[in-house]
Amino acid sequence: MNIILLGPPGCGKGTQGEILAERTGIVRVSTGDLLRDAAGQGTPLGQRAKSYMGQGLLVPDDVIVGLLREVLASPKASKGVIMDGFPRTVAQAEAVDTLLAERKQQVDQVLFFDVADEELLKRITGRARAEGRADDNPEAFRQRLVVYRRDTQPLVDFYRKRGMLVEIEAVGSIPEIAARVQKRVGK
Ligand code: AMP
Repeated sequence: MNIILLGPPGCGKGTQGEILAERTGIVRVSTGDLLRDAAGQGTPLGQRAKSYMGQGLLVPDDVIVGLLREVLASPKASKGVIMDGFPRTVAQAEAVDTLLAERKQQVDQVLFFDVADEELLKRITGRARAEGRADDNPEAFRQRLVVYRRDTQPLVDFYRKRGMLVEIEAVGSIPEIAARVQKRVGK
């Protein structure tokens, strides 16, 4: 089963993705985590990605599509994947379709976690303190939000039109939201 987690930065999809992965045994893949690892290790891909990430900009699609190809071909993805942080553009969504079709798979569900901007800004200040992420400073965060609304939000309609979109009310406690996810995913 292939599940996409969609929503603005700070909406809680990473946390919910981990809970869902643990419950279903489907691996959660976060392009943000993969890129941060690559940047930390100083690989060529990581070096290329780093400057975009620090500014809150999207890493170019060709880098992401290369990463996706590797991830979706790996044995851990044989049962499908929970996609956290991708696709983030229509071009990436089309690449996901193509790469899954090559493996006779498809996107099964898109969980959309919507949260208002003011609430996101409040949450992100807490996360910056707790995790110390370089791109959680208010300036980079605002930029990520602008990029999300411009480049990623169109995916909401893209998937809604295909009847795949499942809207999750992403306010409340972590267990409350996890229970909503469980109900909608059916496992
Ligand atoms: P995240 O951890 O998902 O918030 O991602 C952190 C940063 O990594 C983003 O602000 C982007 O710079 C980059 N990134 C992660 N996933 C993608 C993606 N699918 N496409 C482009 N850039 C990405």
